[in-house]
Amino acid sequence: MKNSLQTLLGSISQGIYMLGTDGRMCLYNTRLCELLDIPAAFFDKHPTLAEMNAFQMQRGDFGDAASLVDEVARDYVLAGGQAPVPTHFLRQTRTGRTLEVRSNVLPSGMMVRTFADVTDYIQAEAARKRANELLFATQALAQLGGWELDFVAQTETWTDGTYRIFDTTPEQFQPDLHNTRKLFTAQAQALVDASYQDSVRQPATHELELEMFTLTGRRIWVHSRGTSVWRHGHVAKRTAIVQDITQRKLTELALRDSEARWKLALESVGDGVWDLHVPTGEEYLSPQLLRMYGYAESELPSALTALDQRTHPDDVPAMQLNRYNHLAGLTPSYSNEHRVQCKDGSWKWVHSRGLVISRNAQGEPLRMIGTHTDISERKAAEALIWQQAHFDPLTGLPNRRMLQERLAQELKKCRRDGQLLAVVFIDLDHFKEVNDTLGHPKGDVLLVEAARRIQACLREVDTVARMGGDEFTVLITELSDANHLQTILPKLLHTLSAAFTLEQDQVYVSASVGVTVYPTDGQSTEDLFRNADQALYVAKDAGRNRFSFFTPALQVAARERAQLMADLRSALTRQEFRVVYQPIVTLATGHIHKAEALVRWQHPVRGLISPAAFIPVAESSGLIVELGEWVFGQAAAQVKHWRKTLYPQFQISVNKSPVQFENPNPAHTPWIEQLTALGLPGESIVVEITEGLLLSTSAGVLDQLLGLSDDGINVSLDDFGTGYSSLSYLQRFDIDFVKIDQSFVRQLVAGSTDMALCQAIIAMAHALSMKVIAEGVETELQRDLLTAAGCDYGQGYLFSRPVPAAEFEQLLGINP
Ligand code: C2E
Ligand code: CA
Ligand code: CA
Repeated sequence: MKNSLQTLLGSISQGIYMLGTDGRMCLYNTRLCELLDIPAAFFDKHPTLAEMNAFQMQRGDFGDAASLVDEVARDYVLAGGQAPVPTHFLRQTRTGRTLEVRSNVLPSGMMVRTFADVTDYIQAEAARKRANELLFATQALAQLGGWELDFVAQTETWTDGTYRIFDTTPEQFQPDLHNTRKLFTAQAQALVDASYQDSVRQPATHELELEMFTLTGRRIWVHSRGTSVWRHGHVAKRTAIVQDITQRKLTELALRDSEARWKLALESVGDGVWDLHVPTGEEYLSPQLLRMYGYAESELPSALTALDQRTHPDDVPAMQLNRYNHLAGLTPSYSNEHRVQCKDGSWKWVHSRGLVISRNAQGEPLRMIGTHTDISERKAAEALIWQQAHFDPLTGLPNRRMLQERLAQELKKCRRDGQLLAVVFIDLDHFKEVNDTLGHPKGDVLLVEAARRIQACLREVDTVARMGGDEFTVLITELSDANHLQTILPKLLHTLSAAFTLEQDQVYVSASVGVTVYPTDGQSTEDLFRNADQALYVAKDAGRNRFSFFTPALQVAARERAQLMADLRSALTRQEFRVVYQPIVTLATGHIHKAEALVRWQHPVRGLISPAAFIPVAESSGLIVELGEWVFGQAAAQVKHWRKTLYPQFQISVNKSPVQFENPNPAHTPWIEQLTALGLPGESIVVEITEGLLLSTSAGVLDQLLGLSDDGINVSLDDFGTGYSSLSYLQRFDIDFVKIDQSFVRQLVAGSTDMALCQAIIAMAHALSMKVIAEGVETELQRDLLTAAGCDYGQGYLFSRPVPAAEFEQLLGINP
């Protein structure tokens, strides 16, 4: 029994575990281990809920303050699973998947919990949301409305057109899943309910004709056509286009009473009418129907074949089957959508509907009548929606979603034909700067041109997609030999590094490219994407404008990065960081009245790790926000001490990463308040920022920057000269100090270009009332040249390496 249960559990797509009455885990499946990324060995020890919670918490699976968990379940998770159990919530994994967690406490006290990966559903939902926006725009044109019923979120949303159809406005009526029921007649409600019950076939699309009431009590007919998302045998979401077909429906109904009247009535709503004598195949085509296709009266023979022959060959089989089913009495009416060729050769989409109105004594059909409605506009709107969901509107290239579908198809083909396939990630270098300095419209022009250049390097069969931003992905298919890539990739780099002409501006970007090959490097979409991403990372890290192939060693490096990230998380609580101070020397006098605080990480196994190695990791994981706050706290306490013991106006610089500006933690006390609490003025601290921050377009960042000056805190621009901004550009930002980057100081000799550059920076900075600090001063020659050029401060190994606070004090003892 236990064994067959395990086998069953092993085969389901959800992760599952069960807690026994003793509160310990008594059952789980392998899918659980995959979804939670926890080894089976952990579960085999029969952990309690609290132990399991603690394990995940400690690893950061729930995010800071359980931010990765739905709000409804946050308290529960933070309480270590000791609070009332929420029956249903979503959580995000660290790799960005979305898990749906359902818990069921049994009367015996046992608990069953399931985990389902609903990422695809959530993504599909987002895509549908976009499509929905388009619906708004197109509905007025095509006289359409739309509605969306979300049974998970328990919401119902209408578009403007739908309000119009139901004689109301968003102010008068707020639709929800309950109050809209009164709009359905009993028959319509039965039809809708039946469509929800079809849990065996779970059809993705539906099409219904419903008799309904408007909010003013008017009876109308509505045609609803749309898609459903099924989960666990129920409709989770339904989106449909609705159209008011009252007029046509009424005339259709009237049709049975009076023939003369109905033909006229139908023609007057713009539909074409046909009337078929079934045994002979003779068919009357109304003038309106003929006009619809550009024919004059009696220009087509009165025969069924006349229209059938003009129907698009792809549409004929389905049309004939539908017609046959109705003639045979299997369906209550005939309905089909197909294309008919007009006299001028163009194709027109029509909805053909019909009804057998008389049969002989044997039940064989004698006469069938019906209409053609021109649905070109609706089809165009639908095509537009599809286009929107699968293509990037800017470049016209397939989007991420479409690419994933293509890759899945191509992988199938490769498996069958034994061919190779390359997945190539392309990321434009320095695109952000172009976008920020020249503006988005020009950035867009550049992207379109880049897309065109990439396509020009490839063959028809290859796929180029835009993944968003400045990221492109290429699938190179029908690849018989991976060596072939050695000619394509340099071409790609070359074409993208050529100048882009944006009106009067000439700009240069380049590309970093990561490549992985199926089946050598990976078999699945996920593996290939991850590989290409790692290869891209290497290309960027190695200095951009290059390509890099995935190698198993990258996998190792990526794993090390992940390990570093995991270690970094616990390093703060384990107090593995400390702060060292490097003096900033007044060149004219040799006095030391300033220092830069620099963080150090003493890793328990790997020893001292350079900030250059871990700061980027801390930035990408967001941990820099906590770390930076800690460094500031240390520096503030230190400057308080040194203002008493060393020099009353002592200043300490702290480095502040752009990430700290972009994701401030509102729970942190503002720096100025922390300083005030210590009895310190704002100018006891200098914040060092990088040029990239000044290019930020976000208003919040600039506000914070200007706020620093308002508080009296000084701002220093780090690594100046390596970025893009000109000195005069800095004027807008209240910068107090400019730090000349080490790379200009390193080879400083009299008469060199670097010397001229330093002199220019110093002169301009002074003209703008900024002071200048030269970094990386290692020799007396460099110091003397800088002093002669009027540079205000120097920092570098010549004076001292960054040292612990106690050592710094000794230093001042020697060099007061
Ligand atoms: P940075 O802000 O440009 O800091 C100056 C770096 O140059 C320091 O490296 C310093 O030790 C080094 N340096 C100083 N004098 C000389 C010299 O004469 N010759 C040479 N070759 N190097 C010199 P460090 O401490 O390894 O820091 C590297 C970078 O890590 C820093 O560059 C800064 O960007 C970042 N960083 C360090 N601490 C923090 C921090 O607390 N927060 C943030 N956000 N970033 C930090
Ligand atoms: Ca710095
Ligand atoms: Ca620097």
